[in-house]
Amino acid sequence: MTAELANKIAAGEVVQRPASVVKELVENALDANATRVTVIVKEAGKSFIQVVDNGEGMSETDAILAFRRHATSKVFAAEDLERIRTLGFRGEALASIAAVAQVELKTRRDSDDVATLVRIDGNEEKERSKTAHERGTSITVRNLFYNTPARRNFLKTRQTELKNITDVVTRMAIAFPNVEWKYVSDDETLMDLTVKPIRERLADIFGKALSEALIPIEETTDILAIRGFIGRPDFSRKSRVEQFVFFNNRFIMSRMINHAVFQAFEHLLHHGAYPFFILNLELDPCHVDVNVHPSKMEVKFERESDVYRLVLSVVRKALAKHNLVPTMNFREGNAVDDAEGKFRFASPTADDPFAGAPREAATVIPFPAHPMPQQESAFVNFEELFERRSETQDGSAIPPRTLPASGRILENRGREEGLGGSEQRPVWQVHNKYIVAQVRNGLMIVDQHVAHERILYERAQANFENALPATQQLLFPETVEMSPSDYSLIKELLPELQKLGFDMKLFGKNTVVIDGIPADVRIGSERDILQELLDEFRTNEHDAKFDIRDALAKSFACKAAIKAGDRLKIPEMVALIEHLFLTKMPYVCPHGRPVVVKIPLEELDRRFGRTS
Ligand code: ADP
Ligand code: MG
Repeated sequence: MTAELANKIAAGEVVQRPASVVKELVENALDANATRVTVIVKEAGKSFIQVVDNGEGMSETDAILAFRRHATSKVFAAEDLERIRTLGFRGEALASIAAVAQVELKTRRDSDDVATLVRIDGNEEKERSKTAHERGTSITVRNLFYNTPARRNFLKTRQTELKNITDVVTRMAIAFPNVEWKYVSDDETLMDLTVKPIRERLADIFGKALSEALIPIEETTDILAIRGFIGRPDFSRKSRVEQFVFFNNRFIMSRMINHAVFQAFEHLLHHGAYPFFILNLELDPCHVDVNVHPSKMEVKFERESDVYRLVLSVVRKALAKHNLVPTMNFREGNAVDDAEGKFRFASPTADDPFAGAPREAATVIPFPAHPMPQQESAFVNFEELFERRSETQDGSAIPPRTLPASGRILENRGREEGLGGSEQRPVWQVHNKYIVAQVRNGLMIVDQHVAHERILYERAQANFENALPATQQLLFPETVEMSPSDYSLIKELLPELQKLGFDMKLFGKNTVVIDGIPADVRIGSERDILQELLDEFRTNEHDAKFDIRDALAKSFACKAAIKAGDRLKIPEMVALIEHLFLTKMPYVCPHGRPVVVKIPLEELDRRFGRTS
C-alpha cells in the first residue's frame, strides 16, 4: 500500500467533512497556546477554510514534519498516551487533511525573523519558501476532497455543513473563554468574541436571556471535578442540540452524561423537552479512554457508574437549591401556558418572602379537605366592564350605565370584608382554580391543583422513606370489589399503598376492605381515588419499572389532589400555600408544569405608567 493511499484512507477517519477540518485546525491552534483564533470559511468550507492563530508557531523543519503521519510533537513516550491533556495527540490530522485538499501553511515562531511557507497538494509538496507573517500559524485548506470525488459528493447541503462548523466553533468558544474568537463565513462575521468571564461569554453566544437563566454547578470529589451551568427548566429545548459536555475542556458526546442530567431534571420538564446544560468534567485522563474513536468525540470512563451518580446528584442538588419562581413577563405576551419564554424564572431576591423558606420535606399535617359552600362576593365584575368597554369601537368611552355618575367606589364594609385587611384576606380564589396572594414585592398566583399535587407527591415520598402516614380512619369501613387485575395489582402494591395512608386489607375473592384513607383524600371519594390511582399507575408503568414508589407517588398525587373547580375556604388556601412552600420544589409540579407565577410590583407599576 502506498503512503498516499494510506493517507487517503486515514483521512476518511479523521476528515469526514469541513467541520472536522476546522476542529482539527482549531485544536492545533489551542495546543499551540493561541489567545486569538480566527476561522474563515467559504461555501461552508468546501472551497476554503482558513484558521489563523497567534500561538507558538513552528520552525521550518517542524513545519515540514507536521504533515508527516504520526509526526506529532505532543506524545513523547507510549505512557504519555495515557496522560494526554492536549487536544491533539495522534499526529495524523494535518497529514490526513493534506491528503485530500490543497493546503498552505504559514508559520513563524517568536524567535524567528522570517516565516515559513509550505504548500502541499494531495500530500505532494509544491512549494517551500520564506515569507512574512506575524507570530503564529495560518493554515489554509482549499478545495476539500478535490481528489476524492466520492467524499465530495457525500457532503450534505451547504446549510448543514455550515451548521456543523458553527457547532465546532461554538463548542470551542465555550470551552475556551480566555481566547478571542472570530468566525467568518462568506464574508459575514458570525462570531466576534472578546475575552470575558464565562457567563458573559455565554451571553455573547446564546443571548442574555439564556445566560441569565443559568444555574452554576460546581463540585469536586476525589475522582472528578464538575463545573458548568444548567439551564432553568423553563429554558429547556425541544432537542438535545444545546447540551454540551466537555472532558478536560474537550467536547465529547456522552449519552451517559446526558442521561444523568436528564434524570436529574425529571419531573421538571415538559414531555419532549431537553435541558440546556454545559458541563466540564475534569478528571485524570488515565481513568478515561479517549482513544475510542479517531474523531476523539467519544470517551469511555473507567468508573462509569460513579461518574453517572455524581453528575445526577450534583445537578439535582443545584436544581433543588435554586428558587425557581416563574415570573410573568408581559413584554413577551400574556399567556403563561407556554413554557417557551412566556414566563421566566426570576432569581430569588432578598426580600422575597419565600427565598429563605425552609426546604425540608413537607411535614405531615392533614390538609383540610372539605370545600366550603359558595361564598358570595360583592366585588365588581371586572370582566363584564372590560367586555363592554371593548365593544365600543375606539375603546374610548365606557357606556354610562357601567360607571354611575355618582356613587361610592369604596363601600363602608365591616372589617372582615375590608379591602385593605390583608390579615383578614391574605388570599383570593379566582374561578375556583387559582389562588392569588399578595407577596411583598408583587403578587403571586398559585394553581391550586398542581400546588396540592406537589405537596402530596413529596409527602408520599417522605412516607415511603420513613414517616408514618397520616391516615383518616373511616367510620364505616368500605368493602370494594375489584377486577382480578386490579386486585392483583393492589396485592403487589399493598405495602406501598399502606405507606401512602391507605389502611386496607385483602379479603380474598377480589375484595378489599378499606379502613382508612390518606389525609387529604375526600371521604366518600376513596373508592374512586383508589381506582384512578391504579389506572394512572398503569399508564406510568414504564416509569414504574424504574421506580415503583416514584410512579405510585406521582399517580397518587395527581389523583388525590384538589382539582380545578374545587372551591376552597380561606384557611384551606392559606394552608395550601404554607405547605407548598415547605416542599423541596414548590415551583414545579411532578409533571413539570409551573405551580406559581409571580407578577412583580414593578411590572404592575410599569403597566400603570407609574414611575416609582
Ligand atoms: P497532533 O495535533 O495530533 O499532534 P496534527 O497533525 O494535528 O497532530 O499536527 C501535527 C503537528 O504539527 C503538531 O504536533 C504540532 O507540532 C504542529 N502544529 C500543527 N498545527 C500547529 C499550529 N497551529 N501551531 C503550532 N504547531 C502546530
Ligand atoms: Mg492536532
